[in-house]
Amino acid sequence: MRVVCISAECEPWAKTGGLGDVVDALARALGTARASESAAADEPARPHPLPQSQVWPGTGAVMSVGVDAADALGEVVPPVEVFLPRYRGMEVPGSATVRPLSVPDPTAQEGITDVELVEFEARGYRVRLIDHPPAFDRADYYGGPAGDYPDNGWRFGLLCRGAIEALLLDDRPVDVIHLHDWQAMPAAVLRDVAYEGYPLVERAAMMATIHNLAYQGWLSRAQAAGMFFPDELAEAIPASADGILLLREGVSRAELSNTVSPGYAEEVLTPEFGMAMDPTLRRLGHRFGGILNGLDIALWDPATDAALPASYSRGDMAGKAECRRDLLAELGFDAADPDPLIGMIGRLDPQKGFDLLAEASPAIVAAGGRIVALGTGDTRLVARLRAVAERHPRSVAVVEKFDRALARRIYAGADLFAMPSRFEPCGQGQMISMRYGTPPIVHRTGGLADTVVDEDERPGEGTGFVHAGATPEALAEACRRAIDHFRAGGEEWAALQDRGMLIDWSWETGPAEQYAASYRRAISLRRER
Ligand code: ADP
Repeated sequence: MRVVCISAECEPWAKTGGLGDVVDALARALGTARASESAAADEPARPHPLPQSQVWPGTGAVMSVGVDAADALGEVVPPVEVFLPRYRGMEVPGSATVRPLSVPDPTAQEGITDVELVEFEARGYRVRLIDHPPAFDRADYYGGPAGDYPDNGWRFGLLCRGAIEALLLDDRPVDVIHLHDWQAMPAAVLRDVAYEGYPLVERAAMMATIHNLAYQGWLSRAQAAGMFFPDELAEAIPASADGILLLREGVSRAELSNTVSPGYAEEVLTPEFGMAMDPTLRRLGHRFGGILNGLDIALWDPATDAALPASYSRGDMAGKAECRRDLLAELGFDAADPDPLIGMIGRLDPQKGFDLLAEASPAIVAAGGRIVALGTGDTRLVARLRAVAERHPRSVAVVEKFDRALARRIYAGADLFAMPSRFEPCGQGQMISMRYGTPPIVHRTGGLADTVVDEDERPGEGTGFVHAGATPEALAEACRRAIDHFRAGGEEWAALQDRGMLIDWSWETGPAEQYAASYRRAISLRRER
């Protein structure tokens, strides 16, 4: 099966957040999934510490219904193709080819804009850039200090139409088009309103993935006129509507939609988490589910992490103690003090719950915990954290930076890792911390609830500590429990660390197979239409 992705981001070419990492990791994993399957025959399977359903709850049931019937569709044939805008400053390898591409454009005088299609293979997949400087050669991807670019409808319409036109030019059947976030959703609308009668496009099944429900891509009628020709506009937007919500259109028209963890997929069906999309998502029924993101386990590995003062692994944890001493000294804390250090890393955004950490800090410090918070963002949150650090200079440190190397030293050198997010589509920090032998303390929500098992609830099977309710009290209580376990130490603590380190988060063995299965199902749904 031929798989094509459309996305506004893909690491290492374009990234502002998790979307870029996920699109890259998935494209790579889809291209190598078969290779890893055959490699697995020679290697003993990695042991898994938890029943499979604990780590991937519901995914089999939610996303794989009816897959068997479509199995004949076969494997993903590499290379997967990824369409992206060519943003300012994006370097392309010398091997890249450049071709002219004519793209229908409602804002162009003749209705056509000539762009360039820049293509190359890298990292195991094919990158296909839509290069049109008036649209994409700008200071930022989505907008400036004044807000979103007003012509985002035109820009991302051009990306999606450019992708479709490139596929028509290829003149080879496409089985699946995977749309990531609102910027790619115009492709689903265009399939229905602009490319009827083009079998190559009509035949393609679409899968829509929501990485962040907070960004839904609203276009007013005037903005949508940059994306659709008048007859298409009349079909895409009901006469009574003021405009179009691209994410809603995309998930409604795609054969299948998902978000990036099963737990979050359930939560967003409720008004509390649904950000006003819950009625739409509920209507999708079995066409909507959750697939938990993986983690790039080569990139995140304490045995090879060059940012660490010492490496370590499950078999030899001595290096972790050295990382701890080094980090405590770097923060100006007493490295000889056995009190645990709790790390927290993330965007300083109300979502992530740094305010809860600030509120809970006195109680955590009173219980004997020390804290290091690393993040950038909301200045009021920074001020609150700084105030706490000033009151507790020997036990609370705040670093307001985006510092990848320090983040790695914290994942490795801390004893515990806090992630009290109010909501969390998947979350990466908790997976990384487990991989680094640093048990996480998380709020029972979304992907956090899917990935962390509370040691007090399931003694001897836990991988961290989970609190119900995003409140300072609940966080402090979970920290107290975690501190008690840390202090008790011994084999039980080592086993708790080890269970987290043992989890196989790899994209190849987990999520890539689930996406491939979902693609098959999307294809069969498209064919049944
Ligand atoms: P998000 O909602 O921001 O995508 P995730 O937990 O999924 O949250 O991923 C965030 C990633 O960014 C993690 O790898 C985390 O380590 C990293 N990160 C966040 N803030 C910082 C920072 N200030 N310095 C270094 N790395 C950071």
